[in-house]
Amino acid sequence: MNEEAVTRFGQSLRGTLIARNHPGYDDIRKLYNAMIDKRPLLIARCADVADVIAAVNFGREQNLPIAIRGGGHSGPGFGSVDDGLVIDLSMMKGVRVDPATSTVRVAPGCTSGDVDHATHAFGLAVPFGIVSTTGVSGLTLGGGSGHLTRKYGLTIDNLLEADVVLADGRFVTASATSNADLLWALRGGGGNFGVVTSFLFSAHPVRTVFGGPMAWPQSHAKAIMRAYRDFLPSAPEALGLLIGLKLVPENSPFPEAFWKHAICLLVACYDGPEGEAKQALAPLLAGLPAPALDWTGMMPYPALQSLFDGLYQKGLQWYWRGNFIKELSDKAIDVHLEQAARVPSDLSLMHLYPVDGAAHRIDKRDTAWSARDATWSMVIAGVGRDPGQAAAVTQWAKAYAGALRPFGLAGGYSNFMMDDEGDARVKATYGDNYARLAAIKKTYDPANLFRVNQNIRPAA
Ligand SMILES: Cc1cc2nc3c(=O)[nH]c(=O)nc-3n(C[C@H](O)[C@H](O)[C@H](O)COP(=O)(O)OP(=O)(O)OC[C@H]3O[C@@H](n4cnc5c(N)ncnc54)[C@H](O)[C@@H]3O)c2cc1C
Repeated sequence: MNEEAVTRFGQSLRGTLIARNHPGYDDIRKLYNAMIDKRPLLIARCADVADVIAAVNFGREQNLPIAIRGGGHSGPGFGSVDDGLVIDLSMMKGVRVDPATSTVRVAPGCTSGDVDHATHAFGLAVPFGIVSTTGVSGLTLGGGSGHLTRKYGLTIDNLLEADVVLADGRFVTASATSNADLLWALRGGGGNFGVVTSFLFSAHPVRTVFGGPMAWPQSHAKAIMRAYRDFLPSAPEALGLLIGLKLVPENSPFPEAFWKHAICLLVACYDGPEGEAKQALAPLLAGLPAPALDWTGMMPYPALQSLFDGLYQKGLQWYWRGNFIKELSDKAIDVHLEQAARVPSDLSLMHLYPVDGAAHRIDKRDTAWSARDATWSMVIAGVGRDPGQAAAVTQWAKAYAGALRPFGLAGGYSNFMMDDEGDARVKATYGDNYARLAAIKKTYDPANLFRVNQNIRPAA
C-alpha cells in the first residue's frame, strides 16, 4: 500500500481510520462470531456518506479486498476481511420516523433494536429478526424474517428505497422509479451491489403484543412438531410462531432444575390483545400437554424483540447452516429428533421461522429473494461458549443440515449460509432469479469489487 495515499485517505475522513498499530485495533476488528478472526489492513469507521465514497474509491484504487460492515453479525464474518479494507458503518446511526406516511428512514449502522426503539414511540414497527443486536443492513439485504413476517412480510417486502454508493464511487438512489433494477436486487441479493448508506422502510401499527416462549420436554417433540405443522396453515397471520429444538441454557433466568434438559419450544408473537391471542393458539395448545415453561404474556413489541439478546451476546462460537423448507413430513420430524438428540452444547439450536402468510403474496420474480414457496426458513446453529466447543458445534450443524437436505427446497436463506457451501448453493438459493442478479451485478459492479459476501458473479 502507498503510505502517502493511506495518510491522505485518513485525513479526508470525518470518521476514523484504524490501522494495525492503533491501540483499539484488536477490539474494533472483533466480530459478533468469535469463531472468525480476521485481520484487516485498515478499518474505515465512516461518519457519513462522503466517508463511504472516499473509502470505496480508496479501496478500489489501491486494489484492496473490501468488506462492508453493518452490525457485524454475519456468521461467516463477511463484515471483515483479511489484509483488506473494512468499510465500517457502525458509527452511522440515526432513525427518522415519519408518522404521517408510516415510513422510517434508517442509517446503515443501526441495529434492529435502534429502529424498534425509535418506531415504538409512534406505535409503529418494521418487521426485522428476533435478536435486536443484529444489524439492519445485512439482515435487510439478505431478506429478513422474524416475528411479524406472517402478517407484514419479510423486511425486504417493506423496503421502499435505498441510497447506495456504487463500486465506481457514484451515489445513486434505488426506488420504484429510479434504478428499479437495483432495488429489486437489494431485496435479498445481499451486499453485492454497493454500500447502502440509507434505507427507507414502510412501518406498521404494532405496539403491544402477546408473545414469548413456551417449552415442553423433547419427549413430546414428535407430537408437537406434527400438531404445529398441521396448525400453521390455518393460523391467523397476526400470529407469528416459530418452533425450535434445543437444551435449556445453563443460565439465569432459567430454573436450575431444567438446565440442559432437551426441549421443544414455540415462540409466539400475536399482534393483538391477549384474549384474541389465546383464541388463536387454542386449537394447537388444546391437543398438547401443558408446557413445562411458559413465559408468554403481553409485552411491548421491543421487549419481545430483545428477549434473547442476553442469551446470545457477542463473543460466542457460531457455525450455522440454513435450508428452505416447504413441507415438514413425519420422516423429516424423525430426522430432526435423531439429530437434535446429539446437540453438543446448551446454546445450540434448530429453529424453523415461518415465511408464509404475507411473504407468500409476493411473486418470486418480484424480489431477488425467490423462496416464496417456502413455508419455513430453517436454521441449525451450532453455538459454543468457548473455542474448545468450536469443532463439536460445527460438526453437529453440518451433520444435522446434511441429514435434512433431502427434505428441503434447493437453497437456504443466504443470511444463514457459511462461506464453505460453494457457488452452487448460492445459485440454488436464488433459483431462476440468479441470471437477473448476475446481469444487474454486471451493470453496477462489473469488476466484482464487492465480493466478500454470498457472491453473485457478474454475468459474462
Ligand atoms: C444472533 C443472531 C440472530 C439472528 N436472527 C435472525 C432473524 O431472526 N432473522 C433473520 O432474517 N436473520 C437473522 N440473523 C442473520 C442476520 O440476518 C445476518 O447475520 C445478517 O447478515 C447480519 O447483518 P449485519 O449487518 O449485522 O452483519 P454484517 O456482518 O455487518 O454484514 C452482513 C453482510 O451484509 C453486507 N452488508 C452489511 N451492511 C451493508 C451495507 N450497508 N451495504 C451493503 N452491504 C452491507 C456485508 O458485506 C455482509 O456481506 C441472525 C443472526 C444472528 C447472529
